[in-house]
Amino acid sequence: MPDSPCRPVPRVLGIAVPTPLRRLFDYRPCKEVPAGGWQPGLRVQVPLGRREVVGVVVECRDASELSLSRLRPVTSCLDEAPLPADWLWLCRFAARYYQHALGDTLHQAMPSLLRQGRALEARTRERWCVTAAGREDAPPSLTRAPRQAELLAMLRQHPQGMVSQAILAQSFTRDQLRALADKGLVVCHEEALAASPAAAGCGLAEPALPLNREQAVALAALHERLDGFHPCLLHGVTGSGKTEVYLQLIEAVIGRHRQALVLVPEIGLTPQTLARFRRRFRAPVVALHSGLSDHQRLDAWEAAASGRAPIIIGTRSAIFTPLARPGVIIVDEEHDGSYKQQDGLRYHARDLAVARAHHHRIPLLLGSATPSLESLQRALDGDYRHLRLTRRASRHAPARLELVDLRGRPRQGGLVAPVVETLRETLAAGHQVLVFINRRGFAPTLACHACGWLAECDHCDARMTLHRQPPLLACHHCDRRRALPDACPECGSVDLRPLGSGTERTEETLAALFPDIPVHRIDRDSTRRRDALEQMLAEVRRGEPCLLVGTQMLAKGHHLPHVTLVVVVNADAGLYASDFRALEHSAQLIEQVAGRAGRAAHPGRVLVQTLHSDDPHLRLLAEQGYDALAGQLLEERRAAHLPPFRFLALLRLEAPREATVVALGDLAAEALRQRIGERSLAVDCLGPVPAPMERRQNRYHLQLMLAADRRSQLHEAGAWLVAWLEGHPEARRVRWSLDIDPQTLA
Ligand code: ADP
Ligand code: ZN
Ligand code: ZN
Repeated sequence: MPDSPCRPVPRVLGIAVPTPLRRLFDYRPCKEVPAGGWQPGLRVQVPLGRREVVGVVVECRDASELSLSRLRPVTSCLDEAPLPADWLWLCRFAARYYQHALGDTLHQAMPSLLRQGRALEARTRERWCVTAAGREDAPPSLTRAPRQAELLAMLRQHPQGMVSQAILAQSFTRDQLRALADKGLVVCHEEALAASPAAAGCGLAEPALPLNREQAVALAALHERLDGFHPCLLHGVTGSGKTEVYLQLIEAVIGRHRQALVLVPEIGLTPQTLARFRRRFRAPVVALHSGLSDHQRLDAWEAAASGRAPIIIGTRSAIFTPLARPGVIIVDEEHDGSYKQQDGLRYHARDLAVARAHHHRIPLLLGSATPSLESLQRALDGDYRHLRLTRRASRHAPARLELVDLRGRPRQGGLVAPVVETLRETLAAGHQVLVFINRRGFAPTLACHACGWLAECDHCDARMTLHRQPPLLACHHCDRRRALPDACPECGSVDLRPLGSGTERTEETLAALFPDIPVHRIDRDSTRRRDALEQMLAEVRRGEPCLLVGTQMLAKGHHLPHVTLVVVVNADAGLYASDFRALEHSAQLIEQVAGRAGRAAHPGRVLVQTLHSDDPHLRLLAEQGYDALAGQLLEERRAAHLPPFRFLALLRLEAPREATVVALGDLAAEALRQRIGERSLAVDCLGPVPAPMERRQNRYHLQLMLAADRRSQLHEAGAWLVAWLEGHPEARRVRWSLDIDPQTLA
């Protein structure tokens, strides 16, 4: 790493500025030399065109491709010390790996206040307290300073002291405070706003659970290797106590005065999860999630970077949190799709976690009941240690899936009669039921019964979803909304009917079938209000019989001890999809939902409705479980030369006009094939082909796929393609992006 401080003053600074261009911009240093000398990681203010922007010094050099006299000087340096070196390393790695502009990567990976030029330092606040002298009767010297006397009187009423802001809000001044301090009557303490070192003891607030044998074996294996890069896959069925293993591993790590970084899926960082961590440790747990204010985010970042926060837990972007004393990285539910960012810098937080743990030489723990085929294959190959938890901590093993044939049977709100009957029995026994349906809204679309017209989006090749609360048609791909038509726009018939079921319709049906039982619908629409989800779950945890109807928001992480029956309304989504990962993702989802059943005192049942009860993949999942299906899918992927046995990169191109996109796609493919030939790379260039949804948001979408057995060759071809596109004038009229290791082909 060329990150050593460079002295004397370099003639050229290579600076990453927030632009999509994949290069550094050269500047001259300004007159004032930063305290520690010029070095990579310092933020600077620089002129860019007619704007002033915040950039980051990446290289200190004495030469430039431009003549030195033409370089503009840096306006000012914003930092006394560079931003954390581990953070800069990770950003440079990510920019290189994902073929993304470094300037934009750094920009996306820092808290917004740093982007705006704020200092990275612990925010402190002043607390003013009365001294022993001040507590005696007011000395005569205050008789001529009535405001000071009033101020002292107020502070005497607050034995804990008051913070400056609160005092100034009472229209006292700083001068009055200082005058009292000079007389020895009050004293000012500074306290850090983020986790303070005093609180960072490493004791446990709540005792650890005694582990079962499998957990103990796993933990012992982890304990053995707290130094060095040791990637492990903790492969444990739902409810097998993986979190307990994480907690005890973290205990060991912070006991050695190192930090633990824990990643959880977007919907996994619930107050329930956080509370579990906070209850266990006396040390502060810093949480990074979308609900934080800019100041809280900066504080959390600073607390992690300075080492004052021993435990950091967060969603995808938390992988970019700097750590002063990294000790372990844990990725919970490592298969989860939310770890992949789907725009801008298209990184996968789990894959960056692997790179980062390797760089820091620390252990990495990937946990899942349904590991991604990528991680599973690496465990089978012996690259990752494979730790298994096969039994639940509670009494009951995860329930097997029972397939329910939908063919030729009438449905009510998506459910067939025998399923409704089982539901009734379960509720009568005083238990709770979870109905999983992966479509929000009332119905997937609206249809004309007379002529067959379907409500389609004007801007996408997609149907519009019918919503009842409030009533409208909405496109889930572009967010366009339309009022419900009174009559069919094609034939004028008023016989318009909803087609299929979404969460709202199933909720409505169940409420009508079971009028005395509360029905809680949990999807993106019903949980827009903050805390709505937590409130509903708190109600559910009280244990009264109830029905939960929800999308995948319900599938993950939640411990719902009173649910004994899970119903999957339709298991067929992934079975015949064109995307080769669809089946893997849908099996993971079904297994995760099924895992909500029977986690406490009573055993569970899982009913899975399908139109394809003979499908061999679905049968394998039902009869032998996810691991068996995963093994089968891996064999199929190997035979078909697909990931994880091959590496992919997907170039996506889009523009309002089809002809523009197709012209550029053809040129790019031709140029790339020629380059591949010249360099004799073993890279296949497939396409261009229209994207699965050609028209989306009124733009035409095209894709070009790159596939290779060797990562280095894929990267060489990808880097060349990106440079070609950056230099091609036609590419300015097209929006394009290269997705390395794409998770979906959409
Ligand atoms: P996972 O993360 O594998 O889904 P959890 O860690 O959430 O599983 O554990 C499921 C339930 O089992 C939790 O209620 C947890 O408190 C309990 N549990 C975990 N380990 C033990 C143990 N060793 N002894 C008793 N209960 C345990
Ligand atoms: Zn019609
Ligand atoms: Zn649309």
